[in-house]
Amino acid sequence: ALPRLAIFEAVARHDPEALAVVHSLSGRRFTYGQLLGDVRRARTRLLEARGKSAGDDLDGERVALLVENSYDYVVTLLAILAARSIAVPLSPAFPIPELEYVLNHSEASLLVSSPKFASKAQQVLAADLTSKPSHVELPKHAESAAATGENVPLEDNANPGQAGLMLYTSGTTNKPKGVLLPQSVLTAQARSLHEAWEYSPTDHLLHLLPLHHIHGVVNAILTPLIAGSSIEFMFPFNADAVWNRLAAPFLSPSAETNGITTNGDAAAKSSSPKPKVTFFTAVPTIYSRLLNSHKSLPPPIQDAARQAVSPSNLRLNISGSAALPTPIKTAWASLSNGNVLLERYGMTEVGMALSCGLSFADRVDASVGWPLPSVQARLVDVDTAEVILPGQELDAQGRERSGEIQLRGPTIFKEYWRNPAATEKEFTAPDSDGHGPWFKTGDVAVRRPVATAGLNSAAQPWAQGPLYFIQGRKSADIIKTGGEKVSALEVERELLSLPQVAEATVVAVPSGSWGHKVGAVIVLDRSVAEKWSALDMRRALKSRLANYKIPQVMKVVDSIPRNAMGKINKKQLVKAIFADEH
Ligand code: ATP
Ligand code: MG
Repeated sequence: ALPRLAIFEAVARHDPEALAVVHSLSGRRFTYGQLLGDVRRARTRLLEARGKSAGDDLDGERVALLVENSYDYVVTLLAILAARSIAVPLSPAFPIPELEYVLNHSEASLLVSSPKFASKAQQVLAADLTSKPSHVELPKHAESAAATGENVPLEDNANPGQAGLMLYTSGTTNKPKGVLLPQSVLTAQARSLHEAWEYSPTDHLLHLLPLHHIHGVVNAILTPLIAGSSIEFMFPFNADAVWNRLAAPFLSPSAETNGITTNGDAAAKSSSPKPKVTFFTAVPTIYSRLLNSHKSLPPPIQDAARQAVSPSNLRLNISGSAALPTPIKTAWASLSNGNVLLERYGMTEVGMALSCGLSFADRVDASVGWPLPSVQARLVDVDTAEVILPGQELDAQGRERSGEIQLRGPTIFKEYWRNPAATEKEFTAPDSDGHGPWFKTGDVAVRRPVATAGLNSAAQPWAQGPLYFIQGRKSADIIKTGGEKVSALEVERELLSLPQVAEATVVAVPSGSWGHKVGAVIVLDRSVAEKWSALDMRRALKSRLANYKIPQVMKVVDSIPRNAMGKINKKQLVKAIFADEH
């Protein structure tokens, strides 16, 4: 079993010489020893900014951060936790009104900004804020001296509940909600992932994600830090740059174009080669862009890149935050010499909840696997509100029963910030078994027994029982049409399996006679686009889908708008594209 350590306590136990963070572009490197020293100093600076001394703490105050993906972000995040305050990461990509909204809503007492976003910070502070936070500007160059003798204890013993993270949901279905994740919840989430995905000190993770979402913060910072892995930041995402970086350790020295440079920080050992990337986690659109960009790389890079992502080098590649289209999974496996993407399901409120296993065989197409360690999951029939127990996955007619995913356990958040009504609504009443309420995810799934999914049994001990297959959001993806229910995700999967279709999203289009019609928004594959007709497509779908599931209306577009995490706001899309259909 892994020790029950708070994040910074775990960090303090790693080899101080071990690599913690790398800046991909500059090649700057920072060790765990430096990190710890810098966290202590940054913590003191936060306390001073609030007129407190090193022995005090910030007792649950909200501290917003406007810092790019970097070592400074990691230092600031940990310092906020160590000061027993709540980190509120802001997206530097947010326009001022959105930053204003989050600062006001979280009632932040401090805003920490990096030199890069100093003027953005000034701008938002000049706005009409309800409570003006004090401003802390980070120094121009990351302090990277070895750990000093400052011996302020960072151990987590007295009241871990005061520290935490507040993340805003992606706002895909509504205005973003502030999700309060106390440090105990963060630790439970990180421990669960550590156990399931076996992060280790030999892992080097390439970090490609925004840092104001759970995926980028918990899966790709806190968990690797707890495990003693190293994190390399590369952001904003650029597919060619990612391939060049992945390929670098596999190119002959003469072919390597942008070798790591050292610029005098204490940890950088001169001419150290770029570490091999063993781990990365991304959203489906990132994999899709990588697949496209790989086709046009120069042949030597192309080959080295292939080698870099083959299973013997890239230990684990994970996809989540939105459904993984099977063609992307298949194409990635073929490019990478058999590396199968691991799909998992999670959300801001719960961290990661369901995941496929580490064994390739356990990564069944379209499935998100099993509840992760310490996560309890159940399905609740959407129509009858009955819990669908294992073995009850089919109804009397032998049809699959779909249900809402409900979750509980130490990884689940406790409340929406300043929104008791939403908190009340999204949790069930305490269960009769005395184990507390369940969180209603709003996502619908079916479960299939292991044998039905084509497996004998799962390889990992935590992967027990039938597998989950996500059907989509109750509010947007379960389309009621002429008395039938259609899973938008199921139809999307079939559309995506047609060679003409590059991207597809399926939506409910309001219709007088049907309640809703099944609508599809499609981006065509350029190479075969001219051969397309809606009729052909419907014909092709006939052998794959029941008649009522086949889209009645189809619109071809050049691109489908997605947010930073690759998600689609379907309500907006319907309004924009099918306005004339109503
Ligand atoms: P809001 O709650 O503000 O509308 P959001 O739900 O998109 O936004 P997040 O918490 O970032 O905000 O996203 C969680 C949602 O993402 C899940 O509820 C689910 O619908 C979707 N999701 C995550 N992983 C997967 C997956 N593997 N397959 C399908 N959907 C997924
Ligand atoms: Mg949500």
